[in-house]
This record gives sequence, structure tokens and C-alpha cells, in this order.
Amino acid sequence: MSQQSTQHSPITNTRRGDVQGWSQTLIPTAREAPSDAELPSHKLLVRGGFIRRVTAGVYDYLPLGWRVLRKISQIVREEMNAAGGSELLLPALCPTELLKETGRAEMYGDLLFRFEDRHGRDSYLGPTHEEVIVEMARGSITSYKQLPLNLYQIQTKYRDEFRPRAGLLRGREFIMKDAYSFHLSMDGAAGLDAGYDAMYQAYTRIFTRCGLDFSAVEAEAGPIGGSASHEFMVNCESGEDTILVCPETGYAANVEKCEIGERPAPAGGWFAGEPSGDLDRVHTPDCPGIADVCKLLKVKTPHMLKTVVFQTSGENAPAKWVVAVVRGDQDVNEGKVRDEVGCAIALADAEQAKAAGFAIGYVSPAVVSKVESVLMLVDPDAATGMDVAKGKPRFWVTGSDEMDHHVKHFNWLRDLGTDPLSSDKIRVASVRNAAEGDPSPRAPGATLQARRGIEVGHIFKLGCKYSDAMGFAIMDAEQQRQSVIMGCYGIGVSRTLAACVEMSHDEDGIIWPAALAPYHVLITVMKAGDQRQAEVARQLADELSERGVDVLIDDRDERPGVKFKDADLIGLPVRVTLGDKALDQDSVELKGRRDPGKGSLVPRGEAISRCLELLGV
Ligand code: ATP
Ligand code: MG
Repeated sequence: MSQQSTQHSPITNTRRGDVQGWSQTLIPTAREAPSDAELPSHKLLVRGGFIRRVTAGVYDYLPLGWRVLRKISQIVREEMNAAGGSELLLPALCPTELLKETGRAEMYGDLLFRFEDRHGRDSYLGPTHEEVIVEMARGSITSYKQLPLNLYQIQTKYRDEFRPRAGLLRGREFIMKDAYSFHLSMDGAAGLDAGYDAMYQAYTRIFTRCGLDFSAVEAEAGPIGGSASHEFMVNCESGEDTILVCPETGYAANVEKCEIGERPAPAGGWFAGEPSGDLDRVHTPDCPGIADVCKLLKVKTPHMLKTVVFQTSGENAPAKWVVAVVRGDQDVNEGKVRDEVGCAIALADAEQAKAAGFAIGYVSPAVVSKVESVLMLVDPDAATGMDVAKGKPRFWVTGSDEMDHHVKHFNWLRDLGTDPLSSDKIRVASVRNAAEGDPSPRAPGATLQARRGIEVGHIFKLGCKYSDAMGFAIMDAEQQRQSVIMGCYGIGVSRTLAACVEMSHDEDGIIWPAALAPYHVLITVMKAGDQRQAEVARQLADELSERGVDVLIDDRDERPGVKFKDADLIGLPVRVTLGDKALDQDSVELKGRRDPGKGSLVPRGEAISRCLELLGV
């Protein structure tokens, strides 16, 4: 795999830059933002004439928008190819039989665009392509000599998102680069670990070249567990995702994955503390949710003990059921429960759990002494009988193991039906999502800080999940049949465009980094139809184009005020203005998009070198 230098010119000087007249293309700028637009990227991309809404979560990519998408795709292609990937294109229209092999037709549920064709065949529009590529690979890859292999495509994807939002950030139709790698081992030069690292490096180069401020964070690997996963997040306050960061070590992970540092037992030990009052059984009809109970009983969520019941599977399962207990204002983390139990788990099937004795929705920690084959994991924040800050007994409300009833004043030592410290069915374990202010898992004394981000890329070690489910195995060098080991690697190409605007704009418009700008330089002709101005514009555009610079010439018959406002709105990195006053002095006016004020007069002969300088070439 070649290691390219990270120093990349934003301009490709192996080709002539494009030169386009504004009046020959379509850039429908608008003063008003659409009424449903909340985020800057949504408003500015529509107002700047980059995209136009067709229906919820579906957009036209207009000429400017498409130019940016092509630039992102080109960077992605160059880096994927440099890392050994080969581009292909799989169909977006796929037969649902494929998803039945992996059970993902059910898993996707309503997210899947699914329909019958005229012959009654069940079909779907690809939300991602693991099944399709495994189907292709199991028919085409027959020898270990063909591996390792990395195949990718840049394609339109479909997900019927419940709430498409923020323009291109969450669409129902969007452009994704998805790559899949195939290996026969985890380690060694041909193994998944090396293939994954190469993708991690390629992603780092891609987002650096795009000019984005981003972080790579550890992410939850999903139900298969064990394997690695990273998300690439554009750092941005308006992002949907929360990232937790240790300020001392730089450790960064998403909320689901983030470990929590040591939380020592409170003074007096786990579970210790006097009851806050007599156990009080209260009628709470139709209140299976924490919020409903809290409202009805007028208690705050941190006083609730929340219980979540899981079912285990696999031969080494220590019990049939697992009950995770956390404080009511916190969230159970399935991955942490799974790792603690040491086998595969899934949320309990409600009917089966009820048959086993769980009053689902009203389960209390005391269920541990009422049901067969159960293991209970209690998060440290829940495993106490003391309100340490107030120095008094902890007031807990929880279920009563009976439908439509809760109990107040639950006490671990009095009401559990067994001694929590000596029971081998009960363990104190960190089983909740991390949150801001939690102790850092990497530096004693440091606390985690929260930051917001937009997920633009996601890489996974899949292992044999799909190849096992779909029977994709080949003979290795020792003539042993082996499941093919896979990785998958996604980039939201259209989301990256929006994330870039989200990160880089001001009140007047977009500020494109040179590498993604639809054109690098805007030449504004002050007087449409003026021969001298048109002539100089053409000459400058030619010279810039020869150096690989893309140029847009604003040749419209519009007032200067309109042209300058539009220039700021579409946000090209450099503006060259040609007016009579400047040209009389054999000069032009030059302004970087980020520069305040009017711009400066530059001798005509220096215009090209100053443009290149502003572009960082
Ligand atoms: P999210 O959590 O934002 O819904 P995801 O984790 O389901 O995304 P992946 O399956 O990891 O998405 O897809 C790979 C990449 O595709 C994501 O990192 C993201 O950049 C992009 N992507 C996913 N869903 C959308 C969407 N609805 N609109 C635009 N881009 C998307
Ligand atoms: Mg993802």
C-alpha cells in the first residue's frame, strides 16, 4: 500500500481548470431560506443554489452542488485507489431474498424502501450493500490467491429515515462511498487488521484533504462485539452525535462506546444505607416508562432504579436472563452488558420474559430472588443506599414485580430478598452509557468532556458475520475451508458536503475550503457588456485555468450589490473584481472570502500569483 504525502494541493494541475460564465449555468440564489430549514448548511445550500428540495429528504443536486460532490468523490477515489481499493458499481435495486439470508430485512424494518415489482418479486433499494457484495464475491472469489481484496463504490443509497432533517445531513436518498474488504486472517500483511488500518489512514487523509476539522473516535462495534469500529466526526456544535473526550490523553469515543473510569464504592460499601422509609406499594396504571412514573409520583428520574431484561444465547452463557440496573436518568449500555456477561445477548422477548416471571415494565431488582437462572448487573451509581452528597439514606423508587405497581423507599439490604454482597447472582458492574463529567478511563483524576459532531465516516471490522450467514467460505493455502473475514467502510459523501458548510460559514454565506470549492476563483465583471472588462476577465480566466484553477465569471447584468452578496453567499475562496477604476490603473481588486472589508488593489501582472497564494497553492 502506498503511503502518500499528506501535503496535497487543493488544485489538480494535471488538467486545465474549468471556466464557466454565470449566465451560462444555473445558480438560482435566493434571499430567503426555506421555512423548514433550521441549520446553516441547509439554509445556505438552498439559498446558494447548490441543492433544491424535491420531497422530504430528497434533493436535486444543482450544478454548483454537483461540482462539490464530484470534488469530494474525486478525493475519496484517489485515496481509496492509493490504499489498494478497486472501484465497482453494484445495483441500487436489489432482491429482498438476499436480506433474508442475514435476517436484515426484519432488522431494517421501516427504514428499508421495499416493494414488489410487477411480477410480485420482493425488492428493495439498497441502504448499504453487505449482502449484495457477499453474493457477488461468493460467486467470483474462489481461491485464497485472490485475497486480500478491497472493493468500493460511490452510489446513491436509500433509507426511509423517520425524520429526514437538515437538508443533506440526513436524507432519504443520499450518496455514500461504501467499501468492503476480504481476508483469510486477522493478522499479517494480508489480514483484516492491516486492511482496517489502511482504511483508517485513508480516511484520515480524505478528511484532511477535504479541509475538515474532524476527530476519529472509538465506536460500538455492534451486536457481533469484540471487533473494532471507528467513526469519523466533523467537530461541530450543531452535530447530532455526542463524543466524549478525555482532555488529558485525547481519548475520544462516542457515547455508546466510551468507557468510564473507576467509580469506587461509596463510604460504607456497595448497597449500604438505611431505608429512607417503609416500603410503599403504589398503583401506577399504564406507566411502564420511567417518565410516566416520575410524572405520576412526582419524583425526579435520578431517584428511579431502572431495570432492563436481556436474554442470553451461546454455550458459555452464565444464566438464561440478565437484568441490568441503572439509575433512572441514565441509559443501559447493551455492549457493556454483553462484555460483562461474556456471551451474546438481546433484549428479552416480552412474551417469553413474562412467562418466566418478569413483570416487564414493572421489574424490580428483587426479581433476582424470584426468577430462575438470572444474573443481575448493577451499575455503581445505582448500587448504593446512601445519598452521599446529602449524607442521608437514598430514596429509591422502582418496579414491584407486579403489573401496574411500583414501590417507594426501596432499600437494597432490606428488600432484595437476598444479601447483595454474598449472592453470586449479583455483580456491581459499569453497564451504562458514559456522560459528561464521568471519570476518564485513561487518566486518573480527569473527567470526560462532551463535544458535538457529525458522523461523516464509519469503519468496521465485521469478522465473519456476513460470510457465515451467507455461506461464503473458500479453501485456504492448507486446503482448509475457511469463512472469509470482512471489513466494511462507509463515507457519507453528500453528508460531508453539508458538514463542511456547517463547519465553515459566516452570516453572509458559505466559506469553502479550496479543495471542495465548486470553483476556486470568482471573477466579477462590474459592467456586463463592457468590452475591456470582458477581455481582461477572459485573459485572467485562461491563465488561471492553465494552472488548474476552476473559474466562474460573474458576467450577469446585475447591480454590483447583488453580485457581491451572491459572491459571499456561494463562498468561493477568491474574488477578483474588474471595474473601470482599477483597470485604468492596470490593476484588479482581489479579496479572499475570509478577508474582511473591500479587498485590495493588485497590479494586473501579479493577479495570478496572488490568487494562487490565497488558494494555498
Ligand atoms: P446515522 O447514525 O447518522 O443514522 P449510520 O451510522 O446509520 O448513520 P452508516 O450505516 O454507518 O450510517 O453509514 C455510513 C455513512 O453514511 C455514515 O457515516 C454517514 O456519513 C452516511 N449516512 C448514513 N445515513 C445517512 C443519511 N440518512 N443521510 C446522509 N448520510 C447518511
Ligand atoms: Mg454509522
